[in-house]
Amino acid sequence: MLDFDTAQLTLAQAGQPPTATELCPIHQAGGRVLAQTLFATLDLPPADNSAMDGYAIRFADYAPGRALPVQQRCYAGQMPEALQPGQAIRLFTGSLMPAGADTVVMQENGQEANNQFTITVPPAQGDHVRLRGEDVRADDQLLPMGTRLGPGQIALLASQGYAEVPVFRPLRVSILTTGDELVPAGQPRAEHQIHDSNGPMLAALVGALDARVIAVHHACDTTESLEQAFTTLLPDCDLLLTVGGVSVGDKDLVKPVLESLGGQLDLWKVAMKPGKPVALAHIQGKPVVCLPGNPVSAFVVYSLLVTPLIRTLQGRIDPFPSVMHGILDTPASFNEKREEFLRVQIHDQGAGSLPGLVPYAQQGSNIIRSLDWAGALARIPAGTRVAGGDVVRYYDLKAWLG
Ligand code: AMP
Ligand code: MG
Repeated sequence: MLDFDTAQLTLAQAGQPPTATELCPIHQAGGRVLAQTLFATLDLPPADNSAMDGYAIRFADYAPGRALPVQQRCYAGQMPEALQPGQAIRLFTGSLMPAGADTVVMQENGQEANNQFTITVPPAQGDHVRLRGEDVRADDQLLPMGTRLGPGQIALLASQGYAEVPVFRPLRVSILTTGDELVPAGQPRAEHQIHDSNGPMLAALVGALDARVIAVHHACDTTESLEQAFTTLLPDCDLLLTVGGVSVGDKDLVKPVLESLGGQLDLWKVAMKPGKPVALAHIQGKPVVCLPGNPVSAFVVYSLLVTPLIRTLQGRIDPFPSVMHGILDTPASFNEKREEFLRVQIHDQGAGSLPGLVPYAQQGSNIIRSLDWAGALARIPAGTRVAGGDVVRYYDLKAWLG
């Protein structure tokens, strides 16, 4: 059985970044991954300009009570005249600084009457001027290849005039659910059946990482059904996720079928709770991850082991979840041979304190309510006794999963 950290590293390295790239219009680039390191072509701001609605002056022309004739009214988007000595130019936020001016006096700090501006609050030289290049310099690196484009990154690229950006082709993921007991939501359910929740859950998780779900397919617990599913799904996807049927029961046929189709098993069983039965295989050069069927196990294994692989396959440079610290807040204690991941809520303890981590009362791997309730997974190290008041590591699911 592999330890958790080795398993996570193995999964993160179990695929290659994509080779196929495309140009994406900047308005549609949210969530895409940059396929090239991009550099600034412009200084930003491209010219000195005003940070305030006010008046541009030469600081040397200021004297208490002195009235400066208003030479021009220059709005954002207009070119200013050169400032004549002893005069002022009316400016607005974003107006370019006139040649010769070095200071902006905000309009609240003076009075304009009869086209003359009189300053009432002494200015400091250079006040309220945004300097050319103070934000970004031409030739600076903007973003490295492998950056996921969020709103901030898109703003940065658009401000540099990028109308299209080179991105990797979206990752195509297929999902295979297994189990004779499953019926899809929306179909009649007999007493011995349950609704498939893992299929929709995994589709939502994959979609939240901006990968494309190509197919969600169901197979019965027979060799033929599984073989047919693998054969149908594999050609069109870059990654196949299966769920259920990968443990040691009589009907757990996913692993033998995978091997019979020529799949190379890279790992099987990870020392984690929930989630021990996990398999990673390569078949036709494509990674297949087999998740345990219990919904909480599937969720935890996906969150901590599959996401690093997905991020690697997407070409991202940040495959691992950030590790945070918090204080376990519970009367219970924990001590497992396997690395344990508790579904917890994060409670703010105020400035200067680590957050409290409150475990959901039922930690069974079948308890689907805990997935709605929890905001994080707290990590209890294998073979270590941990109780309320102890500092533990945790993963913030909201920050990590999408
Ligand atoms: P398995 O790993 O196939 O033995 O399944 C373990 C448990 O997870 C069983 O109780 C299954 O009924 C349940 N399970 C497996 N797949 C799903 C699914 N897609 N949706 C909901 N429950 C599932
Ligand atoms: Mg099953």
